Amino acid sequence: MAIGARAGRVHIAGGGIGGLTAALCLARAGFEAAVFERMPEFGQVGAGIQISPNGARVLHHLGLAEALEACASLPAATEIRNWRSGRVVSTSPLGEAARATYGFPYYHVHRSDLLRVLIEAAGRDDRIELHTACTVRSFEQDDASIHVAVADEAGETIHAGMALVGADGIQSTVRVGLFGPENPTFTGNVAWRTLVPAERLPEGLIAPVASLWWGPGRHFVHYFVQGGALVNCVCVVEKAGWEVESWTARGEHAELKADFAGWHPHIQTLIDHMAPGSLYKWALYDRAPAASWGKGAVTLLGDAGHPMLPFMAQGAAAAIEDAAVLASCLAAGKQAAQSFRRYEDLRRRRTAKLQRQARRNSKLFHLSGTAAWLRDRAAKRASGRVLDAVFRYDALRAAC
Ligand SMILES: Cc1cc2nc3c(=O)[nH]c(=O)nc-3n(C[C@H](O)[C@H](O)[C@H](O)COP(=O)(O)OP(=O)(O)OC[C@H]3O[C@@H](n4cnc5c(N)ncnc54)[C@H](O)[C@@H]3O)c2cc1C
Repeated sequence: MAIGARAGRVHIAGGGIGGLTAALCLARAGFEAAVFERMPEFGQVGAGIQISPNGARVLHHLGLAEALEACASLPAATEIRNWRSGRVVSTSPLGEAARATYGFPYYHVHRSDLLRVLIEAAGRDDRIELHTACTVRSFEQDDASIHVAVADEAGETIHAGMALVGADGIQSTVRVGLFGPENPTFTGNVAWRTLVPAERLPEGLIAPVASLWWGPGRHFVHYFVQGGALVNCVCVVEKAGWEVESWTARGEHAELKADFAGWHPHIQTLIDHMAPGSLYKWALYDRAPAASWGKGAVTLLGDAGHPMLPFMAQGAAAAIEDAAVLASCLAAGKQAAQSFRRYEDLRRRRTAKLQRQARRNSKLFHLSGTAAWLRDRAAKRASGRVLDAVFRYDALRAAC
């Protein structure tokens, strides 16, 4: 089907960061988009998230700079520390330095704030339809259109459109519809997540930086969100026997305390101030890079196409990049199928590299003994350069 006239609607399965950004990018390119989110409300769960300049570039292009600046924190640097001594292993400047180098800031933001900014922008655009409590169950396509089966309280409805984007996360139904069932892999890592009100903590305990503490078999990340009101903590431990992948599974305070026994007093203080009822536990899964993301006028975006460990802090940024490239390809192409294959070709190599680097980091962050000492020396020399190419990527020009 020719799409030069923007005929038909693009259906998007999933209203997470990827799906909502895709709707905004598509609307900006002149398409109508309908987002189907299975949850009763958008953006109810989650904690902090880091959005690096490569993601911020796209969000600013969508006119969201002011709304983001109003709710985000701008870390001055990334600081890597030793788990026991607290010694700073390496520092990479962010803050104004990131803005000057890459043209866009590095944000720390609460996930629900970012989703709210995206939803409000989508709500203002009459080319975008937002549907909650609507689960995409299956799809069929012929030469002329796509038929998407969406279930809500009232039953199942078939929606016809020009294309379908599966932005429905790591357990993607659209992916199963394309390639059949294939479970993601448990990576042997469990992430503890919580938010600590900054006012509860001793003054000066948390610096306005992204802090990453490396230790044997585990690491600890903390940074401010909501303009410094909350400290977001992600504590990752290699663990066997607990494999629940959920934003809402609770964890026991005593278990977290035991996981980080012997760590620096600063980490002990932080853990001691965590409210027991506020701890969530998330088993970390990923998939190997896929050889293909689509067929015909159906494609994948974000975690549905390239789920990765959070050890590069790039999963959401990559979904945001996908959204920009997908919309550019669709706008430039004559047929959705060809445009989607071009989008996939443009994106697969970069996202595969991020998936592999995130996997490598899961080993690197958790080294001990001499290997850790050698890693620390190399990190000091490399400080900041590893992520330079990641941050420089321009998704707005990738399809030009
Ligand atoms: C502990 C942790 C920390 C992280 N930190 C960072 C970070 O700092 N920076 C970063 O860039 N990334 C980070 N990530 C990764 C990031 O969270 C994900 O990559 C990102 O959320 C992917 O967005 P998405 O829209 O592709 O998928 P998701 O966020 O998974 O959204 C998918 C949406 O689809 C909906 N859905 C699912 N199935 C269906 C269906 N059949 N029909 C309709 N709707 C459906 C879901 O309810 C959900 O709302 C982190 C991840 C974790 C686990």
